[in-house]
Amino acid sequence: MSPVAPALALDEAAVVLPKEERLRDPFGRAITDLRLSVTDRCNYRCVYCRTGNEGSQYTELSGEDYLRMAGLFVSLGVEKIRLTGGEPLLRNDLVELVRELASLRTIMGEPLDLALTTNGHLLEPLAGPLKAAGLRRITVSMDAVEPETFTAITRVPRSFERVLAGVRAAKQAGLEPVKVNCVLLRGFNDDQIEGFAELSRREGVVVRFIEFMPLGEDQSWKPETVVPIDELIDRLHSFRPLVELPRNAASETARRFTFDDGVGEIGIIAPVSRPFCGHCSRIRITSDGKIRTCLFSQDDHDLYKKMMRGGTNEELATYIRKIVHQKEKRHHIGEPEFQKPSRSMVHIGG
Ligand code: SF4
Repeated sequence: MSPVAPALALDEAAVVLPKEERLRDPFGRAITDLRLSVTDRCNYRCVYCRTGNEGSQYTELSGEDYLRMAGLFVSLGVEKIRLTGGEPLLRNDLVELVRELASLRTIMGEPLDLALTTNGHLLEPLAGPLKAAGLRRITVSMDAVEPETFTAITRVPRSFERVLAGVRAAKQAGLEPVKVNCVLLRGFNDDQIEGFAELSRREGVVVRFIEFMPLGEDQSWKPETVVPIDELIDRLHSFRPLVELPRNAASETARRFTFDDGVGEIGIIAPVSRPFCGHCSRIRITSDGKIRTCLFSQDDHDLYKKMMRGGTNEELATYIRKIVHQKEKRHHIGEPEFQKPSRSMVHIGG
């Protein structure tokens, strides 16, 4: 991969951009967290995400293109980049892309906080090389702790053992804290709650339960499928008394808990029953290079097309600012005016 385009000498850009000119949306929220989808290809067909008969079509851009787009956002104040997909580990050039991204510096001259979300199926052999390339943190999506339910959800046989091996390899490699995200669906995997609490204590990983959101390709979302945070806290408390931990940052989406003996950590992300849009610091780029200002946006904004038409960094930065000024205040899940987003999760990138 060739080095970052000379026109995008971030150090120069970082120097000239005063703090108050960082990216902010119309509600005063600083946009410091970029979710960058590097493919919408996936080797899993999770029941709540994909219909299972998508065919083999997918969109991916070159590493250079993602690097340039990431560099633009970093020069405007982004401090954290999370690589997502589809399944990012399917990209052959991922380690190299991570190395290049890790060489970027924030406008304050600090290293980027570079993280990645994966389904873990390909993680075991890649954990070490990703860490060595500069990846800091990793989140593994796991929706069950016993193989049968795991296979029923992912629709990929013998996947549970591989993912658990990937989680252990990530810990071994020092990609700490290793987080395990579980999307909870009533009647599907809510019988796994106690098993996940044990996994957190046994494996020393942070387990985070996520309320099911209407982002799947089909219309399977119903309010009654959501396991709301209060019910979940009760379930965990009866497993073992919970102790709440302070949030790491105001924009952190999870409420954090440990158990009375301090072993294990649980996070609960409750976008449906306890929305956290007020502190939203996120913006997304889809695998085909479009900006999404919110997970539930109805519109995409084609940054890649502007780049391909020869847009200069200044022009593209101005475009990004303009789009951030259109960021939605919040989602409207469960409200009469709620509209399903224009893309499903696999094509947004989480
Ligand atoms: S729903 Fe939209 S505004 Fe709310 S936290 Fe998610 S991305 Fe931010």
